[in-house]
Amino acid sequence: MAGADRKRSSRGTDAPELAPRLALGVPGTRVPVMLPYPFAGPFDYRVPPDFTVAPGEIVLVPLNRREEVGVVWDGPSDASVPDHKLKPLVARLDTPPMAEPMRRFIDWIAAYTLTPPGEVMAMALRVVRPASASSHAGWRAADPRPEIRITEARARVLAALEGGRALPTGPLAKQAGVGIATVRAMAEAGLLAPVVLPPTAPFAIPDPDHPGPALSPEQAEAAASLRAAVASRTFSVTLLEGVTGSGKTEVYLEAMAECLRQGRQVLVLLPEIALSSQWLERFESRFGVAPAVWHSDLSSRIRKITWAAAADGRAQVVVGARSALFLPFPDLGLVIVDEEHETSFKQEEGVVYNARDMAVVRARFCGAPALLVSATPSLESVANVDAGRYRHLTLHSRHGGASLPDVAAIDLRMHPPERGHFLAPPLVAAVREAIGRGEQAMLFLNRRGYAPLTLCRACGHRMHCPNCTAWLVEHRARRLLQCHHCGHTIPIPEACPQCGAVHSLIPVGPGVERITEEAAEKFPDARVLVMASDTMPGPHAATEAARAISAREIDLIIGTQIVAKGWHFPHLTLVGVVDADLGLAGGDLRAAERTVQLLHQVGGRAGRAEAPGRVLLQTFSPEHPVMQALIAGDLAAFMAREAAMRRPGHWPPYGRLAALIVSAGDMEVADRLARDLGQAAPRGNGLEVLGPAPAPLSILRGRHRRRLLLKTRRDVAVQPILRDWLARVKVPHGARVDVDVDPVSFL
Ligand code: ADP
Ligand code: ZN
Repeated sequence: MAGADRKRSSRGTDAPELAPRLALGVPGTRVPVMLPYPFAGPFDYRVPPDFTVAPGEIVLVPLNRREEVGVVWDGPSDASVPDHKLKPLVARLDTPPMAEPMRRFIDWIAAYTLTPPGEVMAMALRVVRPASASSHAGWRAADPRPEIRITEARARVLAALEGGRALPTGPLAKQAGVGIATVRAMAEAGLLAPVVLPPTAPFAIPDPDHPGPALSPEQAEAAASLRAAVASRTFSVTLLEGVTGSGKTEVYLEAMAECLRQGRQVLVLLPEIALSSQWLERFESRFGVAPAVWHSDLSSRIRKITWAAAADGRAQVVVGARSALFLPFPDLGLVIVDEEHETSFKQEEGVVYNARDMAVVRARFCGAPALLVSATPSLESVANVDAGRYRHLTLHSRHGGASLPDVAAIDLRMHPPERGHFLAPPLVAAVREAIGRGEQAMLFLNRRGYAPLTLCRACGHRMHCPNCTAWLVEHRARRLLQCHHCGHTIPIPEACPQCGAVHSLIPVGPGVERITEEAAEKFPDARVLVMASDTMPGPHAATEAARAISAREIDLIIGTQIVAKGWHFPHLTLVGVVDADLGLAGGDLRAAERTVQLLHQVGGRAGRAEAPGRVLLQTFSPEHPVMQALIAGDLAAFMAREAAMRRPGHWPPYGRLAALIVSAGDMEVADRLARDLGQAAPRGNGLEVLGPAPAPLSILRGRHRRRLLLKTRRDVAVQPILRDWLARVKVPHGARVDVDVDPVSFL
């Protein structure tokens, strides 16, 4: 995360819309260049005599004796550096320029999140930075060398590079009509200088008129409305809400088809793209080819290829994780956020932003519709619909007459599991029955590993992380204890580190590993598959899992929250939630909302085909409104209740929040800085500052953390208040303040 000293400065981002725009940089003039670093704004450079540049062009510039890739920006120049001190641009890269909407998007995010714009731009430029990718090197014309003879062939090579263009060896030789040896010889003679270029490769073209399924009347109506929104080529936001299995995906594929017919690009954000094999198959059967995919597990080579294809429009559809928002689409015509309620769209590290909200912003700058999709929309989106800011489309029934699953609670006080076990007798019986009928069952527990706590029976010592305020989680299969916050791992000790008692450490509570052990005992003949991020790390494992389940090679699925994500398993009829109360424990603003969403999504995996589904919630408080909402299947009523609770206190979405997270290696430094911030806290009408208080994770990775929370009415902009506030406090060495606008996590 960025330090406060950097975050605070935001020259050039205060009013990005009003700044006078640079039109064209001609030789000798100065142009601002944004560099992918947390500087306060762009730096000025001089345009050299041999080329001109326009805003958005990707250039190579000198910086601290290195050459760096930057983007010609617009807005005011920095007059503090006199003309004669300016360094010249080195070259223009033969890379598609960063379009105007993208530059405005970057400025906007920087201003909204209080992040230096270069740091935001780095996300958009990361893959073009010259690093070790020497295999993709290209050439530009070096400074003239009058002493070297220029043959006619060499002159053709130089002509191909005129205007600061750069090309790789092969294409350069081809364009100049010379052999590769000529290019090499020129490089050796110093007539050409190396540059790094992004590579290119072919992308398949989706066919919008490839036949899709016949839509139901309700689906057809929603699809028509979305097609019209796309065809209008204007910004709008639509919330597409529909129960799980109602065909929302089918409907928005139609909107995508319309966008392809318009010749514009489509961006789809999915919360867990590495696990989205089924989505990719659906896309392929609808459009005949695979889409371009973007996520962090891709090799840097594939990322470079995809980046370039998004930039020149060859990648017509990109489906990706939140970072796909920063791909250089020249003509985006539709932005879709599926499972829009997912909190994983919030990026908590580096630039702290919510990809769902920024997708809407990106769409606005592109003049394109945004589409938010969910069976369990966030209260934010529901409130935007209520306020008339978003359009609303609803699919009321499951496709093909499938009914919604029947949800019931198992009261753990009345039906306790056996000692040392976690599955209540009624759940065990239900799983046996389902498997006995040849159907599939799923057990859901949102906790990785074997046990969340290891305790010494002799002295009561709890095994905790030395770097964090957290217990170590036992991972029995790997024979270790691990901190899920910082990754610290130790082998499971033989003896208690506190009292030395041998074999006295016992696991407390379940994780999926422990449930798997219990399942092996209770259902010895069942073929079990565990789906957790550490047992199913990549797209291949997910694809294989989906295949095995669909092929009925699996009877029982045991999984963490990744099983909640959009899967369609027709033979799955029973979902058992091992600990329905788990998410309510933290008690943050959205704990109840999130629990309802997650459990409803998990339950929604059951009974998606002919056989009816059943969901059993193990809970200690069946009377809790969350359980009641799930049992009644009335999420709208639940959301209305949530709204009524949040509205009076101006809690989001009826007010705004921004968190300041103070951290320092030294506890006293953290406390002092938190106190200083508390004393400098803004005052005024419609705003309130809560804290400072120790963060629930009061130590993380060895740093002491304190939190302050700014709460304002909805009509108050928090950014100027925050900027002012931070400017009034000096952040000592070794400490920092991270800003989190619209916080999702309160840890
Ligand atoms: P959702 O996204 O709302 O959960 P999906 O779009 O995944 O729903 O649809 C659920 C299942 O029903 C999928 O297998 C999908 O292919 C199928 N389906 C939905 N609508 C239709 C339709 N009109 N014709 C054929 N199959 C459909
Ligand atoms: Zn830790």
